[in-house]
Amino acid sequence: MICERCSNEIYKYDVCNYCNRKVCFSCVKSQKKISPTERAYICKDCWSNLKRRKKYKSYMVVKAVFVPRTQEGRRY
Ligand SMILES: [Zn+2]
Ligand SMILES: [Zn+2]
Repeated sequence: MICERCSNEIYKYDVCNYCNRKVCFSCVKSQKKISPTERAYICKDCWSNLKRRKKYKSYMVVKAVFVPRTQEGRRY
């Protein structure tokens, strides 16, 4: 597996939520938990994009409330 940002060989990757690339740990600028099971990742490239950074920062951290399992298609 190759990091799609720095081309380093990696065995574990995270997917950037903004460019959808598989990036290695060192290319991930920041991450945050957005639900009990999900995390949002932003890579260094997207971090330098002000629009995307703003979007990332405004990501609401989902409160630990019960969400019916039937809303499978609706995420966040
Ligand atoms: Zn990388
Ligand atoms: Zn990105």
